[in-house]
Amino acid sequence: MFRVALDTPLRRLFDYLPPAADSGSPAPVPGMRVRVPFGRRRLVGTVVELADSSELPLERLKPILEVLDPKPLLDAAALELIRWTADYYHHPIGEVLAGAVPKALRLGAGAVETEERWTVTEAGVAAHAAGEPRRAHSQRSLLELLSTAGGGASAAALDARGDNWRDAARALKQRGFLTRSDVALELGSEPVRVRAAGPQLLPEQDDAVEQVGKSFGGYAAFLLEGVTGSGKTEVYLRLTERALAAGRGVLVLVPEIGLTPQLVARFRERFEAPLAVLHSALTDSERLAAWRDAWSGRARIVLGTRSAVFAPVPALGLIVVDEEHDTSLKQHEGALRYSARDLAVMRASLAHVPVLLGSATPSLETLHNVDSGRYTRLRLLRRPGEARPPRLALIDLRTSAIDSGVATPAALAMERHLAADGQVLIFLNRRGYAPTLLCTACGWIAPCLECDARLTVHLAAGRLRCHHCGADAPLPARCPQCGFAVKPVGQGTERIEAALATRFPEIPIVRLDRDVVRKRGDLEQVVRRMSSGEARILVGTTMVTKGHDFPNITLVVVLNADQGLFSTDFRAPERLAQTIVQVAGRAGRGARPGEVLIQTEFPQHPLLQSLLTRGYDGFAETALEERRQAQWPPFSRLAALRASGKTREAPLGFLTEARARGANAPRGVRLLGPVPAAMARRAGRFHAQLLIEGRERPTLHRFLDRWVEEVEGLKSAQRVRWALDVDPIELF
Ligand SMILES: [Zn+2]
Ligand SMILES: [Zn+2]
Repeated sequence: MFRVALDTPLRRLFDYLPPAADSGSPAPVPGMRVRVPFGRRRLVGTVVELADSSELPLERLKPILEVLDPKPLLDAAALELIRWTADYYHHPIGEVLAGAVPKALRLGAGAVETEERWTVTEAGVAAHAAGEPRRAHSQRSLLELLSTAGGGASAAALDARGDNWRDAARALKQRGFLTRSDVALELGSEPVRVRAAGPQLLPEQDDAVEQVGKSFGGYAAFLLEGVTGSGKTEVYLRLTERALAAGRGVLVLVPEIGLTPQLVARFRERFEAPLAVLHSALTDSERLAAWRDAWSGRARIVLGTRSAVFAPVPALGLIVVDEEHDTSLKQHEGALRYSARDLAVMRASLAHVPVLLGSATPSLETLHNVDSGRYTRLRLLRRPGEARPPRLALIDLRTSAIDSGVATPAALAMERHLAADGQVLIFLNRRGYAPTLLCTACGWIAPCLECDARLTVHLAAGRLRCHHCGADAPLPARCPQCGFAVKPVGQGTERIEAALATRFPEIPIVRLDRDVVRKRGDLEQVVRRMSSGEARILVGTTMVTKGHDFPNITLVVVLNADQGLFSTDFRAPERLAQTIVQVAGRAGRGARPGEVLIQTEFPQHPLLQSLLTRGYDGFAETALEERRQAQWPPFSRLAALRASGKTREAPLGFLTEARARGANAPRGVRLLGPVPAAMARRAGRFHAQLLIEGRERPTLHRFLDRWVEEVEGLKSAQRVRWALDVDPIELF
């Protein structure tokens, strides 16, 4: 009996008999794809396990129609990871599996790369000898070519000749002179060469490499903590070198490929070897090609964003997760919401290899795992070339004069740093010109018609845009309600850039946000203008923190630290602290000391104070203690049942019924809500959530297992879109 996972929303495996003897297919082993009958359809599934018996009577079972793979698509550890994912996130295993492989494979394409070949048949040999076909010149010359080329050639080789050979080939095939076949390519792994020796390691780097290196061959989890520029990447590269030298493969996960071109470039510079790069911007065929490179073992370094956590890596030896605190490592859209970081740790444990989590600002979960002894902390304290960390100070917005968002002390500091040939970074996490368009006569505010949100003014483009649903309208000159003049209120990066251009007319300024970076090359251009020193002021959003090097920035001004100090989401302070530290990390690299000024209306806030006096460590300690007292994660476990619908009532009605089904929850499991989202209406749909909190993980998951199936059966479930989010990282 073969137990097969199929891409259906049903939470189970399906039993099949071995392929019929006359089908020509050998019996599959777990991890191979098979084609099976399913109702009236034929589906591609994956054999997950073998079984001695079935719940169904034997006569109702059908045989597998065809085995699609000569060797397993997923090895035992990968298959185990899929099962674990399905269990932990309470998601149908067939859908987890389907999401883990490229679309083409899901539809039945071969995993082995093949080559299209055209071969001369016996009839073709005879025809060629007889000088046929006489009247079709292009056919005759193709037959001539293939006959002299040893009787056949690949389509790629024929394409390379440049003429249109396909019509002739088709005609010759019809006459029985040629055959076309797909031949499996034997792609062995290519030798890996280290192009250039890396720099001399600092003692802390050396120690980190030694400690992780010693644990090769078994599971161990490490946190590699170090500020920007402390040399984390060099540690990844050295460990990769060691793994490759031992004949092992390496999996590297990063939050966003597009924003971290430097890391990919560093791997390419160091290793002369094929690299499989997997991310969401690939086309289906590019993804299939990269996946095949990884699966065949041709590329032994696999680098990718979150879904790459499922990528095949034969003889996996090491997993690296860079920027482990970054929220984009968590899938928070769609039906299956997983944490690629957590799955990476699980995969390492299943594959018996070490996993290295890198960050300048580790997540509180990871720090808690360090405290409880599950992870080993490795720290890179020194910055190569310079020792002094930047000096942080707060600017009280209530007592300072402010001109277009910049307080006087910050403006004076800018003048000072610019006069001393430094560069300045102005950070504001809000793109556009102004977040609000207001009529001063009647109080009208430009609203998004699809969201509970205001439209953002984009002055240069002359548009009003919604940053939540993408709605886009022309910028009106007058109030549509009373006809009076309207004015933009508040600051966005576009407005700050314009204001600074007026204040510092001699100084070239660049901006870095999603409005500026729209296509390939835009980002590189901004980075180049700053690093060459051509531009002296950089205005940017969190994009400035994503792996770019600006060694000459000596001053960082955080324009507004207050979004995030008071939020309903218990993770908001953690995110704020991470952002401030990451932004501050741009200051004072190279030989110059840095200065960081944070503008706030709440200079006495304990979070800002602990960050200022004791750094990220001090903040993390305070924040973890607060979480412990409030019993928030990691001191409890959370799941969120999220729903959205076309009316305000639909999601709330569904969640209320779901809550009623959980009335008999065991001790230690609490249901909280339902509540509408803070921004209930987004893109025309209404959102709400129900929180499920558990003191212990096993109790919570036993409850979820039973409860989700009941929730799925609710009639009201059909009127909404819903998803269970285990370990949510954003709450309404
Ligand atoms: Zn008005
Ligand atoms: Zn909108």
